[in-house]
Amino acid sequence: MSVTSLPGSVHKLIKLWSKLPGIGEKTARRMVFFILKQDSSWVNEFIGTIKQVKEETHHCSECGNITDIEPCSICRDKMRNRKIMCVVESDEDCISIEQAGIFNGLYHILGGQVSPLDEQDIPEESITKLKERVCDLKIEEIVLATAPRIEGDLTAFAIQEALEDIPVKISRLSYGLPVGGSIGYADRVTLHMAMESRKEMPGK
Ligand SMILES: [Zn+2]
Repeated sequence: MSVTSLPGSVHKLIKLWSKLPGIGEKTARRMVFFILKQDSSWVNEFIGTIKQVKEETHHCSECGNITDIEPCSICRDKMRNRKIMCVVESDEDCISIEQAGIFNGLYHILGGQVSPLDEQDIPEESITKLKERVCDLKIEEIVLATAPRIEGDLTAFAIQEALEDIPVKISRLSYGLPVGGSIGYADRVTLHMAMESRKEMPGK
């Protein structure tokens, strides 16, 4: 069956599905045909959950993490070490570090990275909020967990510069992380090593 002979709605869903990260047209087609085989109640639950995720979650006004309560469960957890803060580019990176169980402090999600080629930057309000939190919470150490590639380096330098006048130790995850990789896809052992061997950034 050629793609054009498919019913319009099926074709449309395949197109939409293939927009998801890492999903090509072939995989999208498999997903859609899987959906077609399910009964209506399953499909309704699936659609309802997607809507629920979109409607009921937002970014924590403190750390920027994805949450359905305000502030998020990490920010309100009194058992965590509230003197150390891990700065990550995205909430996926935060989840990855949390799942690895290697960090018990607070987080700050930048919601972007410095990437001149893609004309991307860290949102200004995120940097302002970070400075405010570091001062208000009297943070003693910032752990930069930006990606081990050029954009991650530039992002780390930008944060170091932004915190220049604030007396706080700044370290960065180092050994064990493959250059060009990402925090979000790193395995637990790699993340653990990178956290344990973090290095204080020079030039502060
Ligand atoms: Zn939070």
